[in-house]
Amino acid sequence: MSANFSFEVFPPKQDMPVNVIYDTLEKLSDLNPNFISVTCGAGGSSANAGGRMIEVAAAIKHKYNRKAVAHIPCINLSKDDVLKMLAELDGQGIDEILALRGDRVPGVEPKKDFLHASDLISFIRKETGNKFKIYAACYPEGHTESTDFDKDIEYLKQKVDAGVDGLISQLFFDNRFFLYFIEKIRRVGINVSVEAGIMPVTNKKQIEKMVNICGANLPVKFRKILDKYGENPVALKDAGIIYACEQIADLLANDADGIHLYVMNNVYVAHRISDAVKNLI
Ligand code: FAD
Repeated sequence: MSANFSFEVFPPKQDMPVNVIYDTLEKLSDLNPNFISVTCGAGGSSANAGGRMIEVAAAIKHKYNRKAVAHIPCINLSKDDVLKMLAELDGQGIDEILALRGDRVPGVEPKKDFLHASDLISFIRKETGNKFKIYAACYPEGHTESTDFDKDIEYLKQKVDAGVDGLISQLFFDNRFFLYFIEKIRRVGINVSVEAGIMPVTNKKQIEKMVNICGANLPVKFRKILDKYGENPVALKDAGIIYACEQIADLLANDADGIHLYVMNNVYVAHRISDAVKNLI
């Protein structure tokens, strides 16, 4: 059976026209991914919850004929907000969701309707049955708020049992964490597919920011690349692409269910990686 290959994009800012992303979507679609997922900010007003994300997901589906996965972070949403988003997605024929809690937004008091992603998943299943395919997030190195890896996996099992069809992992740079994680979750009976999240490094600042947010370990091999090429953007991009391709080849050789590329809307990087790994998928 072949592995999945998917991309993640973020929508243009509210003050930009949505069509600034069309060229990116068209070129990513040409690479024939299994789906393109679209991020959604957890903060902001619930009056227009998911507005921009839904517009982009609709373009992926209708203009470029690819499957779109809509991210729904619920921390600042009410049940009514979620129902409205689901109705809009359904109206656009989008039936795949990544159900998330979302990160706390400084200065925004979370709504209390959904405390964890599992609450959102149970709610969607209760309200809509099996209309939507539901993905959820998982963390091969543990979630940053969790101090107990086993507990994190126990909560993940509860989340999957609430009605998850597939998992997408947080980015990581050391495959050993992912492979160990898979072994552990299979042992506790989590049997859904898990796509491995890979972020190609193309920019030193961006990677430092991401690592700060998600707490991924940087192996020595990777740090050396940052130290050596960090100030040379062209060389860093090449080294980052090569590193990501090596990670992917190793993951696929170890029977990973799929690869989810955090492409950060970078078509060039997506093309080079897709080209390099297309015969491995
Ligand atoms: P949860 O599954 O709710 O877990 C959050 C924490 O709560 C964990 O520490 C977990 O162990 C703990 N927990 C879970 N259940 C319980 C329980 N019953 N009791 C006590 N503790 C519990 N964020 C966005 O805002 N927008 C996006 O578009 C977005 N896309 C993402 C895509 C991917 C692939 C990933 C991996 C993450 C994404 N995020 C996004 C970030 C995500 O929202 C954050 O990591 C957030 O902090 C956790 O979300 P979650 O859905 O994993 O939460």
